[in-house]
Amino acid sequence: MNRYKAYIGLFKEFYNEDNIKVDEVMKSHVHFKVGGPADILLIPENQEQVIKTIEICRQNNIPFYVVGNGSNLLVRDGGIRGVVIKLGEVKNITVKGDRVEAECGAMLKDVSKAALENSLTGFEFACGIPGTIGGAVFMNAGAYNGETSHVIESAIVIDNDNNIVKLSKEELELGYRSSIVMKKGYIVLSATFKLESGDGNSIKERVDDLTLKRESKQPLEYPSAGSTFKRPEGYFAGKLIQDAGLKGFSIGGAAVSEKHSGFVINKGGATAKDIINLISHIQEEVEKQFGVKLHPEVRIIGEE
Ligand code: FAD
Repeated sequence: MNRYKAYIGLFKEFYNEDNIKVDEVMKSHVHFKVGGPADILLIPENQEQVIKTIEICRQNNIPFYVVGNGSNLLVRDGGIRGVVIKLGEVKNITVKGDRVEAECGAMLKDVSKAALENSLTGFEFACGIPGTIGGAVFMNAGAYNGETSHVIESAIVIDNDNNIVKLSKEELELGYRSSIVMKKGYIVLSATFKLESGDGNSIKERVDDLTLKRESKQPLEYPSAGSTFKRPEGYFAGKLIQDAGLKGFSIGGAAVSEKHSGFVINKGGATAKDIINLISHIQEEVEKQFGVKLHPEVRIIGEE
């Protein structure tokens, strides 16, 4: 029984019918390709719609959850109660001098491309991370010695009282896979990055090099959420998992990648339960064998 369906009229007033979905299966919206239905899934097309949607949800005590590109999400098989706001259509990117302003749903690869086209360096690290600007600020996404915190200047967020606030880099409190946005539950509307003038050819070379590295080392042919676990201090999660003898180990359709043991993949037909059981098994084995606790980097949401 979807009790939130009753609220749909509140959104019909300012959404196209095509952008309101009821009982929408989340497996179509996340990289892992698992997850049950969201009661209501809304696809706003601009920041005003995002702001109004959140105001309405808060006024009516409707639980809501924002999703970027779903590349770091594991949605449980029972799905999500309330409203899911998928931000991927709020995606304008503007370049002004050495600054790039990007809306929350802009893909990192598109921001990286815009930087390259304007011979701006600093954003190359993000070219292969399959997430949005909102997801990157939330997680302080990073790769190959670069991270969001190195290049971000500020972000505009919706705080918990529905104020629209500009937060400086310092106020964003970006740490290893953490931010004030994550801690407080703010919503990122847009972010501004300060890059440096560079040489177009060198930027392109770096992007090509990182893309090759990713393609050769990561199991990109299978659904996953990237690295399943955060890096434990002093160790590499993938190496610990491999040394624990778990490379290729599977539960149902979920498996530890043969190519990169730090990735749990959906090798076909996995349920969220398979993946969660595999994550628990890996945590237990690694702790038993090496005394190291692994903490998921992937966000696990929704109901059993
Ligand atoms: P989602 O998965 O949609 O959401 C993740 C979290 O961010 C959720 O809690 C969501 O509520 C929150 N969120 C999303 N948008 C907003 C917003 N506008 N405001 C507030 N909260 C928001 N990550 C890395 O850091 N480095 C890597 O090298 C990397 N490689 C990857 C490779 C693969 C193949 C895959 C599948 C994933 C990889 N990831 C990597 C993980 C993922 O791409 C990043 O964490 C990315 O930043 C997530 O962005 P997203 O838009 O997909 O967020």
